Amino acid sequence: KGEQAPERITMKIFDLAKTSEEDLDKALKRPSQKSADAIMKIITPIIDDVRKEGDKAVLKYTHKFDRATSLTSPVLKAPFHQSLMQLPTETIKAIDISFENIRKFHAAQKEDKPLQVETMPGVVCNRFSRPIEAVGLYVPGGTAVLPSTALMLGVPAMVAGCKKIVIASPPRADGSVTPEIVYVAHKVGAESIVLAGGAQAVAAMAYGTESVSKVDKILGPGNQFVTAAKMYVSNDTNAGVGIDMPAGPSEVLVVADKDANPAFVASDLLSQAEHGVDSQVILIGIDLSDAELKAIEDEVHRQAMALPRVDIVRGSIAHSVTVLVKTVDEAMRISNQYAPEHLILQIKDAEKAVEQVMNAGSVFIGEWTPESVGDYSAGVNHSLPTYGYAKQYSGVNLGSFVKHITSSNLTAQGLKNVGEAVMQLAKVEELEAHRRAVSIRLEHMAQR
Ligand code: NAD
Repeated sequence: KGEQAPERITMKIFDLAKTSEEDLDKALKRPSQKSADAIMKIITPIIDDVRKEGDKAVLKYTHKFDRATSLTSPVLKAPFHQSLMQLPTETIKAIDISFENIRKFHAAQKEDKPLQVETMPGVVCNRFSRPIEAVGLYVPGGTAVLPSTALMLGVPAMVAGCKKIVIASPPRADGSVTPEIVYVAHKVGAESIVLAGGAQAVAAMAYGTESVSKVDKILGPGNQFVTAAKMYVSNDTNAGVGIDMPAGPSEVLVVADKDANPAFVASDLLSQAEHGVDSQVILIGIDLSDAELKAIEDEVHRQAMALPRVDIVRGSIAHSVTVLVKTVDEAMRISNQYAPEHLILQIKDAEKAVEQVMNAGSVFIGEWTPESVGDYSAGVNHSLPTYGYAKQYSGVNLGSFVKHITSSNLTAQGLKNVGEAVMQLAKVEELEAHRRAVSIRLEHMAQR
């Protein structure tokens, strides 16, 4: 019996010139997510339980979902013992380098001084920022160790000056937290690590428990239970908690031309395809010959077959596509329409094409910039909008950890200058007390 050759791992191809707009839209549709209703039904009782029973409920679900049955407290408070962050020197070095680059890039996002504008003589408007006091950072832990996510959330929180940083991550079955996460928590000055995942971790941070601190905002990616729980608590006025953005499966769009190295292009496509079967990768080829396209396809198959996560890659490549176009303009139009989380430009004038980028989470420019550098160490953030949300959301940045406050400061002359307009509009809106707050002062001035 001869062994069968493995099925070729390849993406469907659409030629823009021969594809209708409707078919293209269909081809570029993200794989559908599970019904939100079903997930809500699962997480609502968990959240209610945590609100009522606090730590006891958190522990119950951690024992159940994470099998950490020996765990007796859901929180590890700082200072974290050295024995909990024993790591190989090369891992410490990698975390330290990444930490420093992320710190530098996010520190540069600080506003130098408050904004001040005199809109009329004597009417001064200001805007200044203040850190969000307490933040909860969710670091997924169900299927992989993700210290990079702890860095991407923890470092900007630290730079912004958040007073209380709480990190939540599901514990391992023996009840411990991965030492990489403890090390990052230590470096960013976290107050505590909540040893819980899923909806119970989100609820604990949103409402607080006997041992988990209540936070003002919850950030971080996670599976569908985490995402649904974040949506739930952010809609509950009793929680009074904000969230970052909707997070979904990772995705990348690579724009490549004749000059692109086929092996590089394939490696970038696969680096997102290995995230999960629900990930999607898109290749837009500009003016490629049949041989140039085949060279990329051959590389995708060859490199995929050598990956430990080849089965996941098969799943994600099954709903991934190649679109063939003639010009950079066409490529950028499709990319802007898709609004990818990651956009890689492996084309001749890559830097110039950036001017045409309207919707994308993060852009990787030129052949020496694989997306993985942004995932870990370059300094840019990897918590980015997926699922087309790059059309209206920014990725996590320093601004995610601060709020802006405005102030106004008028002189007597300033109030004279602007008062008429205020009184007139208050009159139009029939808000007499508003009008009087101005007139009473103007009369006072006239009497003096
Ligand atoms: P996770 O930490 O998000 O979820 C694990 C938790 O899910 C468990 O602790 C448990 O509480 C809960 N859970 C599991 N099964 C449940 C059930 N049947 N009912 C109720 N709750 C249940 O870890 P994960 O599952 O490995 O998911 C990680 C996710 O984060 C992936 O989807 C991945 O793509 C995503 N991610 C995204 C980024 C990004 O930047 N976009 C980065 C890293 C990870």
